[in-house]
Formats: sequence, structure tokens, C-alpha cells
Amino acid sequence: MPAPDAMDKIVSLCKRRGFVFPASEIYGGQASCWDYGPLGVELKRNVKDAWWTSLVQRRDDVVGLDSAILQHPEVWNASGHVTGFSDPLVDCRECKARFRADHLEKADCGSRAYAGRKAAKCRDAGLFTEARQFNLMFKTHVGPMEDSASIAYLRPETAQGIFINFTNVLNCSRKKPPFGIAQIGKSFRNEITPGNFIFRTREFEQMEMEFFVPPADWQKWFEYWRDERFRWYTDLGIRSEKLRLRPHADTELAHYANACVDVEYEFPFGWSELEGIASRTDFDLKQHEKHSGREMKFFDDAKKTHYHPFVIEPAAGVDRAALAFLVDAYQEEQVEGETRTVLHLNPRLAPVKVAVFPLVRKEGMPERALAIERELRRRFPTFYDESGAVGRRYRRQDEIGTPFCVTIDGETAENDTVTLRERDSMQQIRVNAGALAGALAERLG
Ligand code: ATP
Repeated sequence: MPAPDAMDKIVSLCKRRGFVFPASEIYGGQASCWDYGPLGVELKRNVKDAWWTSLVQRRDDVVGLDSAILQHPEVWNASGHVTGFSDPLVDCRECKARFRADHLEKADCGSRAYAGRKAAKCRDAGLFTEARQFNLMFKTHVGPMEDSASIAYLRPETAQGIFINFTNVLNCSRKKPPFGIAQIGKSFRNEITPGNFIFRTREFEQMEMEFFVPPADWQKWFEYWRDERFRWYTDLGIRSEKLRLRPHADTELAHYANACVDVEYEFPFGWSELEGIASRTDFDLKQHEKHSGREMKFFDDAKKTHYHPFVIEPAAGVDRAALAFLVDAYQEEQVEGETRTVLHLNPRLAPVKVAVFPLVRKEGMPERALAIERELRRRFPTFYDESGAVGRRYRRQDEIGTPFCVTIDGETAENDTVTLRERDSMQQIRVNAGALAGALAERLG
């Protein structure tokens, strides 16, 4: 298990370098809400792009969707969220803290007097109230009247926006099972105990895909997506020994699922879910058919039959994935008697791909470096830096995961070559300035 302060180091790096800031900080903060800074927003975009490319653009059997956050309230009745999307809540009679009754083994006791004590101990000591169900959906009102007729919910998952558009997509895309509909977007859950930085928040982004299959084929596709999704994380650099698949026990399965497996990552706070791959049967389509009165079946032309497809759903969190990539990439190394902090991010995820430096601020080097940086910027996210010793500039880029640095020095004026330095090996080679963009493109993949 990594050292307990590993998360503190990530949180501090994120704040210092502009990945993630506490939300509403100047007003004292808004608990468990986070703002993504200049580097964080790029990292998140890269995570989403990697997902979208792999699940939608590179496939001919998945199409995209961007549905509304506010939907008709009946959507959430049909899906079961109004009655069933709740967690068990308990209060501590002594310290007044609130806990999720099913998370007591991991949660810390709320009292300073018992620092380090787990909430499960307080439960065993009889300090907690009976558990009561707490619905996690945020309610709001649409329009000027705040009455029961105007209630709307902020979506707690993006999946239902996909189910209710099943026939729309079917009609326009001419797809037939097996095929999928994918969506990335914000979801909201009034979590009882948010925490662990961006791991569990009340506002977060999801990447979800509903894959519609002939009922007889569900198992084959469940296994296919389980393996695909595991590989997606390792392909993007997560160490496989830090990832595992955890099948759900029958007692743990959601009422609509006949199988589910979580992809878990070993965070500094323990093994935790990054993504769930669920076999949702035909529950959702049938529910929406019942509640809306609209048929939600597929007509199989070859067999001349109508049927409800079964659904395999890989559902991932953007913020959790970003956190896993950051934690996994973070390393402190000893280099020539100094500590080098480096993010070994996969180049596809790195916010800045290449940094350009003049060795010194004279002899025409800044002008040449800026010209090279402008040229490279047309193809890659770049960063120009001329302040401080060049070694410090390398370290600053290592800390944010920039895979390559280019230095313009005295030799550049003589033979038009520059130094190309690679982040992980710290190896430097000389490259012709004219061949630089090509050399970078090749290495960045
Ligand atoms: P958990 O058991 O951690 O509450 P869940 O099983 O309820 O998660 P799902 O409903 O399967 O989560 O949602 C799919 C994915 O959305 C999760 O695997 C996670 O990556 C992300 N997610 C869910 N809730 C949150 C949250 N509160 N904050 C950040 N990401 C979340």
C-alpha cells in the first residue's frame, strides 16, 4: 500500500500546478466541489477524447449522443431512481456526524477525540441511529412556480438519456443489435459522504455506453466489454498490478442486473471502483415502454420478430479515471542527489506535449525558440519557458508530465539542430530543427 500521505502530495501538486482547485475557495470553499484549472481541463479532455476515440470513432457499431441533463420527471420514475436510488444513512448520536451505513469500515469517526478510529467501531459501540434511506437525486424546479408540478431532477446518470432515445437513434442511424450508444456528460448525486479529493463528488462527469444485443448473446458481449474496458486503462499506462476486476456477488447486484463487474484501482485509500460493467438485461427499455406507452423494441427483419434487446453497460467516471491516471503516474525519483517529481503520464493524456526553451536569454536564442514553439503549436499543445536555469525548467515540465522538451542553444545557430529531451529516460538527442515536428509526432503516437 502506498504511503498514507500519497494523496496529500497529489492534491498539493494539483493545486500548485493548476490541475484542480477547491471550488469557491475565496469564499471558504464549497465542500467536495472542485474546479479544474488550465492543466486539469486538458487532462480531463484527453481522458474523454481517449474514451470517445476508442468507443465511438474507431468503431462502426457505436454512435454518440448528448442528451439533456433535465428530463421529464417520469424518466426517473420509470428507471426506478425516484423510489430506489438511495443510500442508507446513519447519524452518530455522540459527534453528530453522518455516514453511509454501508461504508462504515472505511469511514473515519467524526470526533476529534477519537482520531483514526473507524466509524464501524462507533456503530459496534451502539452510537448510531437506525439506518434510513436517503435519495441521492438533486431536486430542482423548472419555471417560476416552485410547486410539485414543476419538480425536475438533475440527472444522476447519463444512461437514461440513452435509453429514452433508443428508437430515435435506431431510426436515424440504421444500426441493429449488436450496437451501442455512448455519451459523456455531467451527472449529479447528493452523496452522503463525498471525499477522497475528486474520487467521490456531488457533481461529476460520466462516460457511459449502452450496448444493445440480442438477448441470447448477452454473456458473450458482457465478457467482451469487461476485457475491452480493462485493456483501455492499461493501454493508457495504468500498471496492471494496480488494476483488478471485481465481479459482484449475487447479493450485491442491482435489481435490474444479472451480472456486474467493477474495474478497481488501488488508490492510496484502498481498492476502489473506477468503472462498472453491468448486464442490465431488458429492464430499462421495458420500463420506459411501460411508462411512456411507446414501443421500445427492435424489429429483426431477417427473423420477422420484434424483441427488446438486452443491454451491456460500461459506465466510467471521468474524474475518477483522471485521478487514477495522476496517482499512477506520480513518482519521486532521486536524480544526482535531488528529488525529481515526475508524472509518467501517457503522452496521449499529458496536458502539454512539448515545452520549448532557449538555453539562455540572449544571442537570438529566445527569438529562435519562440519561432519553433509557434510552429510546433500548430500541431501540439506546447509551452514556452525562458525563466530560470534550464535544469529547473526540465523539472517543472517533469512535474506536470510533459513528455518532451526542446532546447535551443549555441549550436542551433551553427547547424540548425536542437536538443530533444525525453521525460522518462531524461535522454537527450540532437535533432534537426526542420525534422522536429515529425520526430515529435512519431514519438507522441
Ligand atoms: P460507488 O459505488 O462508488 O458509489 P456506483 O457503483 O454508484 O459508484 P455507478 O452508478 O456505476 O457508480 O456510476 C458509474 C461510474 O460513475 C462509477 O464507476 C464512477 O466512476 C462514476 N461515479 C459515480 N458516482 C460518482 C461520484 N459521486 N463522484 C465521482 N464519480 C462517480
